[in-house]
Amino acid sequence: MGLFDAPKPVGVEIKGNVLYCVICRHDRFWRRHIRLDPAELFNSDWFDPTVVAYTCDNCGYIHWFKPQ
Ligand SMILES: [Zn+2]
Repeated sequence: MGLFDAPKPVGVEIKGNVLYCVICRHDRFWRRHIRLDPAELFNSDWFDPTVVAYTCDNCGYIHWFKPQ
């Protein structure tokens, strides 16, 4: 549980586009900031190991994004 975690499901916009769950088309998500295992990033140019994950409040599908 980090400072940026949402206390309840929220609507999400990505670059001006409303995010709908790709599975069930729901529009409320739990926001989490996740720090990846650096070993998984080996030999990549992805230096920031933190990603933003939006978990569908309806079906639980996780949509995750590299921070801009
Ligand atoms: Zn869903």
